[in-house]
Amino acid sequence: MKFISTRGQAPAASLSQALSAGLAPDGGLYVPERQSLATPWFSGGASLVQVAETLLAPFFAGDALDSRLSDIVRRAFTFEAPLTRVGRGTDTHLLELFHGPTAAFKDFGARFLAECLSALRQPGQGVTTILVATSGDTGAAVASAFHRRPGFRVVILYPHGRVSPRQAHGLECFGDNVSTLRISGTFDDCQALVKRALGDATLASELRLSSANSISLGRLLPQMTYFANAAHQFHQSNQRPLNLCVPTGNLGNALAALLARQLGAPIGDVVLASNANRVLPDFFAGQPYRAAPTVATVANAMDVGAPSNFERLQWLYPDERDLRQRVRAFSVSDVEIRATVRHTFETHGVVVCPHTATGVHVVNQLRAAGDTRPWAVAATAHPAKFETVVEPLIGRPVEVPAVLAAALARPASAQHLAPDFAQFVRVLRG
Ligand SMILES: *Cc1c(COP(=O)(O)O)cnc(C)c1O
Repeated sequence: MKFISTRGQAPAASLSQALSAGLAPDGGLYVPERQSLATPWFSGGASLVQVAETLLAPFFAGDALDSRLSDIVRRAFTFEAPLTRVGRGTDTHLLELFHGPTAAFKDFGARFLAECLSALRQPGQGVTTILVATSGDTGAAVASAFHRRPGFRVVILYPHGRVSPRQAHGLECFGDNVSTLRISGTFDDCQALVKRALGDATLASELRLSSANSISLGRLLPQMTYFANAAHQFHQSNQRPLNLCVPTGNLGNALAALLARQLGAPIGDVVLASNANRVLPDFFAGQPYRAAPTVATVANAMDVGAPSNFERLQWLYPDERDLRQRVRAFSVSDVEIRATVRHTFETHGVVVCPHTATGVHVVNQLRAAGDTRPWAVAATAHPAKFETVVEPLIGRPVEVPAVLAAALARPASAQHLAPDFAQFVRVLRG
């Protein structure tokens, strides 16, 4: 299969080329050629790994990585994504995406991308430096996926004082080939440093700079597999499609759900849950698409004012009226998020993270309006990562999963840096 740019001004690329490049040369995002999606091909499988192989095989067909797909999937997906019911007698479920090494769904994409980039390395190539600007979960997932991986170095930039203490520890606890820079500035300052470095041709080739941000095809493709797997297993036992509610920021996870449905997975409705950042809910309510400044919320991994995958959504459903009929989106306030975290615990004994709570709230609203169909909410992170929000609401400590406890037990260290490009370059050159 070939991949084209959403902006249509770049040559078609092979999978390997699209994975290595990240962004297409015309500034667009790589997507599969349209004709390759015309006939849905998904037919199921007995496990997450098997579903991943059947679903992803056509994307790998004809590429240098074709013969490596099975290995890549087996090494990347070493943990499950179980579907668990929220309370007795309801048909509301959580698709638990937080059983990876950094306890958020970003582990699936980061580990898959790392395996692909490792498989693409030629013997004797110099070390590749992966730059990641992060406001939380992405940085830890990418660092973990590349930690001690031969041929790679990771440099994480995160905004000082803008992530929770536990998130900060999770970004600083790697060492070895991972360096963490704590920038005295905002997330946008971090991103600006990364973009400037990647855009500096001399520096980029000297240090073999690369990025691992959410627009990479290597993160989008693997994210389809847990939605397809959950819907397939559910359909096997219930003969009904599974409807999905996806907490959304940059639209990467939700887009993967829509693409999985397009490829034939038995997925019913897909509904997006946003926090107070209302760009998508406003668009789906009929307003023109308009990026907006970011609003800070308690679901901080979804604080996005210009969802970077929107171009892919427009590519998937080019007709705007059709698009508005195929997807719905709702905005959930901080007050509603907090109430849902508390209520879900008090009613069902289930603790959810603030991001997951946006989805649970949306499904509760649908239920109140009479919807009795089966719904699964993508549980995007483990609540223990957001203990400062969650614990006061439920009135008790959140049990910390073993992987997070191990990370918290390791020493943390970061280099403090002003948002200054010359200083950043000095650190990169080491
Ligand atoms: C990244 C993230 C999201 C948002 O996912 P997108 O793919 O950016 O829409 C939601 N919840 C958590 C916990 C995240 O880390």
